[in-house]
Amino acid sequence: MKVLKTVAEIQAFAKQMKDEGKTIGLVPTMGALHEGHLTLMRRARQENDVVIVSDFVNPVQFGPNEDYDKYPRVFDADCEKMETVPVDAVFHPEPSEMYPEGYCTYVNVEGDLTHKLCGAQRPGHFRGVATVVTKLMNLSRADHAYFGQKDAQQVSVVRRFVKDLNINVEIVMVPICREESGLARSSRNRYMSDTEKAAAVILSKSLRKAKDAFEAGEKDVETLKKITSDEIKTEPLATIDYVDAYTYPALEPIKTVTEPVLLAIAVKIGKTRLIDNVILGGDAK
Ligand code: AMP
Repeated sequence: MKVLKTVAEIQAFAKQMKDEGKTIGLVPTMGALHEGHLTLMRRARQENDVVIVSDFVNPVQFGPNEDYDKYPRVFDADCEKMETVPVDAVFHPEPSEMYPEGYCTYVNVEGDLTHKLCGAQRPGHFRGVATVVTKLMNLSRADHAYFGQKDAQQVSVVRRFVKDLNINVEIVMVPICREESGLARSSRNRYMSDTEKAAAVILSKSLRKAKDAFEAGEKDVETLKKITSDEIKTEPLATIDYVDAYTYPALEPIKTVTEPVLLAIAVKIGKTRLIDNVILGGDAK
């Protein structure tokens, strides 16, 4: 596996691969890799000649009071995991390589899509995501880029700007990878104690309860949200940030599930903020 640290290195690698007529799959990550990231990489491996992973904690997508400094950085362990896929090249730049002095260009997806769910609580977050993903797509010359349903709103935002900016990359959404307990895998799970991890199972449990109710015939969105939040409230260590539902992928308000609906939650377990979701009434594509 090649380790690429500079813009010049990834551009040269991508050019060589393209000159050889190879297809390129890009998997953007912030490192601290877990099985969820690896499912994206394995999918990219199946569908492309070359797999490029970015392992970069992107400062621009963190708010001033968020966990940028504390975010886990374990590059050597990440490399060992990527070798098992195997990945062809990892792009691991310094922040100053991505945002050198004088940097002043950002991709801003305006309108409703970025002002609800995590966008409402993390101002500027999706501007940071859209900016870095655009740069990574340009640098890697990817044919396909892989994202997890775990961050379903992120997938909607990425699909939106890829369409709006005529970027020639196909976006692939990969289902949520969970621990046996049902807990969605996340780099932030490592912030939690064992007691907190046990409590965090309430996220997937509450969504499962709503999904069961939906499958038993409950189509009213407010009722499905209430089933979810009532279940979360049974866990003393949990504090709800939001329980919300919108059409998927457009993220428009809806009262009755007559088309695919994203039921999404953000919950703090102690100090750790976790997200999870389920798509009701349709396939996650
Ligand atoms: P992150 O490193 O947290 O920015 O995540 C990088 C990519 O991995 C994003 O597209 C995430 O949606 C995806 N991802 C993170 N956790 C999971 C998971 N449990 N299942 C599937 N994809 C995931």
